[in-house]
Amino acid sequence: MTANLQPSQQRPTLATLEASLAACGLQLNRLAARMRAHGPAADATGQIPEAAWESDDVAALNLNLVPLAYGGCPDAQSLVSRVILMEYLGYADAGLALALPGPGLAMPPVLELASARQQADFFEHFRSETPRWGAFAITEPDCGSDATAMRTTARKTAHGWVLNGTKCFITNGARADCVITFATVNRQVGRFGIRAFRVDRGTPGFSVARIERMSGLRVSQLAVLSYADCEVPEEALLSRGDENPLDDAFSGAQQAWDYFRPLLSAVMIGACRRVRDDLATYFDAGAHPAHERHRIADVEASLLDVDRQITAAQLLCHHAAWKTDHGIATSMDSSIAKAYASRVAARVTRASLELAGLDGIAAYPSLEQSYRDAKAFDIMEGTGDMQRLMIARAAQRATSLPWDITQSPPPRPTQPFSS
Ligand SMILES: Cc1cc2nc3c(=O)[nH]c(=O)nc-3n(C[C@H](O)[C@H](O)[C@H](O)COP(=O)(O)OP(=O)(O)OC[C@H]3O[C@@H](n4cnc5c(N)ncnc54)[C@H](O)[C@@H]3O)c2cc1C
Repeated sequence: MTANLQPSQQRPTLATLEASLAACGLQLNRLAARMRAHGPAADATGQIPEAAWESDDVAALNLNLVPLAYGGCPDAQSLVSRVILMEYLGYADAGLALALPGPGLAMPPVLELASARQQADFFEHFRSETPRWGAFAITEPDCGSDATAMRTTARKTAHGWVLNGTKCFITNGARADCVITFATVNRQVGRFGIRAFRVDRGTPGFSVARIERMSGLRVSQLAVLSYADCEVPEEALLSRGDENPLDDAFSGAQQAWDYFRPLLSAVMIGACRRVRDDLATYFDAGAHPAHERHRIADVEASLLDVDRQITAAQLLCHHAAWKTDHGIATSMDSSIAKAYASRVAARVTRASLELAGLDGIAAYPSLEQSYRDAKAFDIMEGTGDMQRLMIARAAQRATSLPWDITQSPPPRPTQPFSS
């Protein structure tokens, strides 16, 4: 998939991105200001307020994550530029940042699995003056972490495919125009039976069963999607036409997670920075810590600690993004970035509530919202537990130490500094 991305030669910065996006019709600072102003209403209602972006922004927002070949903004193609952008928008409002129009998580599997014609059809859909959303549906009520055990079936017919099953927790699922849906053609063969289908809104048999009531990231409108004898045409099956019998679509799902974990980390880092800044402003104005056991010196120490954690999370996130842009990232890089950022988000938001207390929350309600959002961050795109499990397994397989750690270390060189 990385071959389709064209990382710009120069290292992007927020300033260069702002200029590039302005040339593509998006005023980034105005968008962020609107998201910040309307974030609380979005959190309260679970709806995107109409004023969250200007109608002029919509065409450019739709093309967010769209490859260059299909009209995407030339200087916002690398993952590094995209994480910089998402950190900035996550600072404005994490919920709205994840609810922005565009193909979203559906983009990587389309690039990985679809033919050139299917890709063109899919991305063409996002060249529009009205907001368009894509979604990615793999999780089911009975299998989340173990997605390969999915039960949604795809049966071949004379004219195409019939899908039956239920998907749940689908980000932007209720507002999506196209949902890349994973289903099995043969449960007996596990992941090898998994295929991906494009299902458009309005397809008979396809419906939004309900929108979950969430404690955090409410505006993502996590949807339960129902497929009841849902008939899709033959070309709905994402296929390049050169697959061998062992190719499955689960690799497309893995591409989506690997690509999105740094993006999600960036949103979390932006949200943590906002918490840090709100906390600093609150105490700078003369407020006292909520609990008498805390002194102002403890607040200063906490802010320093928060800065340290945010910086480390940002380095891991940019490292994974840079490696992705250069075609050398592994799932482990993305998992480490996501697992660490979600831990930082949990710690930072909890510490902020302890320090600021009820008075601080009254002054800065975003502190409480961020705490709720952090719970959802840990679960989405693979829970923190699962990330740590994958990291531990990968680390067990490939130690970077030059000797086996279960054995004694090699003898020290007798003349370590000899030239
Ligand atoms: C905000 C949000 C957005 C989401 N967006 C999407 C989306 O767009 N598309 C989509 O398809 N899905 C989406 N999901 C679903 C998400 O990917 C799943 O919730 C997640 O994979 C966990 O699955 P589950 O909820 O079924 O939990 P389970 O898999 O049932 O896990 C329950 C608990 O058990 C732990 N656990 C499970 N297996 C193991 C194990 N082997 N070892 C140790 N611990 C284990 C988990 O860590 C968790 O704590 C979203 C979820 C959230 C919260």
